[in-house]
Amino acid sequence: MMPSGSGIWLGSGGIITSKWVPDGPRAKPIAIALATLLFATINVQAAPATKSSTYLPQASPKWLPSFPKQKNVITSWPPSNPKAALPSGPLSTASFSLEGYPTMNEVVTNAAKDPNIIPIMKAIDWTKVPSAPVTSDAYGDEYPASDPYCWWTQTLCTTPKIHYIPPDISICPKAGTWGLTYDDGPMYYWPVTAENSKWAEPNLYDYLLKHNDQKANLFYIGSKIIGAPAAAQRGFNDGHTICAHTWSHPSMTTLTNAEVVAEFYYSLRMIKQVLGITPKCWRPPYGDVDDRIRAIAWQMGMRTIIWDRDTNDWNINGDQVAPGPGAITYATANKTVDNWIKSREEGKDNKNGHIVLEHELSNSTITLAEFWLPTIQKEYQTMPATACNNIAQPYWEKQFIYPIQGTVAVDTNGEPTGVKAPQI
Ligand SMILES: [Zn+2]
Repeated sequence: MMPSGSGIWLGSGGIITSKWVPDGPRAKPIAIALATLLFATINVQAAPATKSSTYLPQASPKWLPSFPKQKNVITSWPPSNPKAALPSGPLSTASFSLEGYPTMNEVVTNAAKDPNIIPIMKAIDWTKVPSAPVTSDAYGDEYPASDPYCWWTQTLCTTPKIHYIPPDISICPKAGTWGLTYDDGPMYYWPVTAENSKWAEPNLYDYLLKHNDQKANLFYIGSKIIGAPAAAQRGFNDGHTICAHTWSHPSMTTLTNAEVVAEFYYSLRMIKQVLGITPKCWRPPYGDVDDRIRAIAWQMGMRTIIWDRDTNDWNINGDQVAPGPGAITYATANKTVDNWIKSREEGKDNKNGHIVLEHELSNSTITLAEFWLPTIQKEYQTMPATACNNIAQPYWEKQFIYPIQGTVAVDTNGEPTGVKAPQI
C-alpha cells in the first residue's frame, strides 16, 4: 500500500502539531502507484542537462528584505574563523519573533492579498508558468497518462515538458556515490523535556561531526527554523548545505500560485534572516512537484532537488518515546538500506550514484540516520547531493564555496562557473 498523505507528526507535544507525513509520495490510485513503481527503474536521469542558454535566466531575489547579521553565524565557506564557527554543546532555546511571518505550519491565508507576495507575483513572468490545474488527491484518477505537466507524484517525472526549466536534480551522476540529504529539520521537540531533547539537535549534527565531519544537504522547513534557530545556525556553521523545504510543508501542487509563492517566500526569508543566505535549491514536500511549481521555484531563484531512493524512515511505526502512525517497522527500513548496499556490493548498481531521502524529524529517524551512517560511509563515497552534482555555490551569496566531487564546479543550471572549488 502507498502511504497516506496526511497524519500526525510524531512527538508533536506542543506548537508543532501538524498534519503531515514527512515526504514520501502522496497517496495515489493503486494502478498509478504500480505504474509508478515500474517507472521508477527506468526514469532515472543521466547527469543534468548543461545547456543553460536555453533556460530562463535567473536573478538573485530582489524581493527579500535585508536583515542584520546574526551573532555566531559564519559569513563564508570555508569560514574565516573555523573555531568560532563550530560551537558545540546545548543549543540556545531563544526564538525569533514571528513578526512579519504567517502562522507556523500553515499555508498562508490570503496570500494573493499579502503585501509581501504582491510584488513577487508582479515580478514573475506568468507566460512561462504552465497553467497546470491545482491538484487534489481526488484529481489523480483523471490525470492524463501523457503526463502533460511532468507531475512527479503520478509518474516520477523529473524532466520538465517545458524546455526553459532544467531537469530536477534526482541522482548523483557517479556510481558509488551517496547523496546524503536530511529533510524536515531543524529537529527539535516541544515541550522541551529531557527525553524529548535527547534526540533533538545538535544530536545528529554532533554525530556527523564525529564521523569524519560528514557533510549533508539539510532541507529546512521555514516554520521549524523559527522554533529552533540555534539548531539551524549550528547545522549551517558545521558546513552542511542548506536548501529550502517550504514554509509549512504542504503538497505544493494543491496550492494556488499565490500560495506557492508565499511558501517559497517565507521559507527563503526565514533562512536569510537566521543564516544570512539565500539558497538556490529546494525540495518539494512528498516530492509533489509539477511544471507549474518548478517554473515558479526557478523564477524565485531555486532549482528543484528530488531523490531517487527513499529510506522510508519517515514511515516508521513508532519511535523511542511513543508509538506512531507509520506503516513500516525498523526492520523493514533497515532491509531497504541493506538491499541497496548488497546490490552495490554485487556489482548490480554501477549505472549512477543516488540521492537518498532521510529525515531529521523524530527520534526514530535520527536513530536510523546514525545507525546507517557508518555503513554508508564504508560502502559509498558519501557527500551532499549538491556536492556530487558539482554545485560548489548553492546560495546566491557567492562567498560560500563548498567542496565538490568533480574537478569542474557548475551552477545550479549545470553550467561551469569557473570557480575553483576543493574536491572531496
Ligand atoms: Zn519533508
